[in-house]
Amino acid sequence: MKICNKNCCGCTLCYNICPKNAITMLEDEEGFQYPYIDETKCIDCGLCKKECILNNPILKNNLPLVYACKNKDDKIRMESSSGGIFSVLADYVLALNGVVYGATFDENFNVVHEKIMSKTELFKLRGSKYVQSYLGNIFSSVLNDLINDKYVLFVGTPCQIASLKSYLLFKKQNINKLILCDLICHGVPSPLLWREHIKNIKKNMKWYYFRTKENGWNNHTEKIVYKNNSVDFNSAFSQSYKYLFHTDKTLRPSCYECSFTSINRVSDITIGDYWGIKINDFDDNKGVSLVLLNTELGKKVFEAIKNNIIYVKSNEKDCLQVNLIRPTEEPYDRKKFWKYYYTKGYDYVLKKYTPFGEKYIIKNKIKINVSKLIPIRLKNKIKNILK
Ligand SMILES: Cc1cc2nc3c(=O)[nH]c(=O)nc-3n(C[C@H](O)[C@H](O)[C@H](O)COP(=O)(O)OP(=O)(O)OC[C@H]3O[C@@H](n4cnc5c(N)ncnc54)[C@H](O)[C@@H]3O)c2cc1C
Repeated sequence: MKICNKNCCGCTLCYNICPKNAITMLEDEEGFQYPYIDETKCIDCGLCKKECILNNPILKNNLPLVYACKNKDDKIRMESSSGGIFSVLADYVLALNGVVYGATFDENFNVVHEKIMSKTELFKLRGSKYVQSYLGNIFSSVLNDLINDKYVLFVGTPCQIASLKSYLLFKKQNINKLILCDLICHGVPSPLLWREHIKNIKKNMKWYYFRTKENGWNNHTEKIVYKNNSVDFNSAFSQSYKYLFHTDKTLRPSCYECSFTSINRVSDITIGDYWGIKINDFDDNKGVSLVLLNTELGKKVFEAIKNNIIYVKSNEKDCLQVNLIRPTEEPYDRKKFWKYYYTKGYDYVLKKYTPFGEKYIIKNKIKINVSKLIPIRLKNKIKNILK
């Protein structure tokens, strides 16, 4: 039996708190996990619905302190997706003999949440992976670490953070030693499409970088490193996944209704890209992190790490970006995209929607050239009419 509709964000809270283990997370036809109840085990206690973060939203914190930050170590910053602030936070917690949770690859290159306990493992969590990560039983692992009085840093999407917090409060666990860090989130793409994307290359793949800075932070470039150490960040294929991501058609349906896309956050610290930063010379095209300190704990941690970073104070007005204001808009032709995928397959949508296919390139060249021919005033008029 299904518990909820497509507004479910797959946060696994109900799965984790069910007293009878009657809930299983199963993939739907788009590859996103949803909870299902085994009616033979269910005792109808209603906890799954009562505690759900959508029915029982967690209080958001008030206006945060805003900073632009860079890791002082340029090598680590280059390996990170933004300004490398995550690694500084992780170093801080590891130095306290704590543990760090974040997203990495499993042996089949599925994106999964994992715990690391040493600096040598940190590289696994570094870098954005544009796929909804699999949480499995990670919440109970966090609970055990806190019971054992460990410091814990948990990084994830805002819905994952809200869910973990609700889970620990439900378990009446003291969370004084837990640092919750959420990402500014555009939305999470489908694990099924990611599996499709790497199905022919994964056996030879060493690592997949969803966002490298070889061509600069402002230039979204993907990179595939193979086991024989050859590197691909030039071919149309190696760049095609990001184009699919940028179409917004591959995101989880609930992301278009996300209630966490606001400046008021559920975490202690929020990290993201500080796009369009206007502070003098701060942007060297190697990545700048936007950091929001949302709680007293967040501010305390920042005090402790601030000597290890380059930072400058900013403000709410200057740092705003789309997903701090509203959810990503659902494309009008999302359904069509998925229909093409089901009926014609992954290669077809890749060719149709990304520069991997000739038709896409020709269509876009025509679009750009036609657009150049239209005077700006007329363009603005058309825009206003379409509004
Ligand atoms: C799906 C997705 C969408 C994003 N959308 C935006 C956006 O719209 N605007 C914006 O400013 N920033 C966005 N980010 C965040 C940004 O890209 C950086 O990840 C973030 O700023 C941290 O960068 P860093 O340089 O500090 O460290 P990095 O070393 O780049 O740290 C990456 C951190 O993100 C975690 N992480 C990576 N992939 C996932 C995942 N799939 N699920 C959960 N956690 C993950 C890792 O565990 C690690 O802790 C997004 C990230 C993801 C994964």
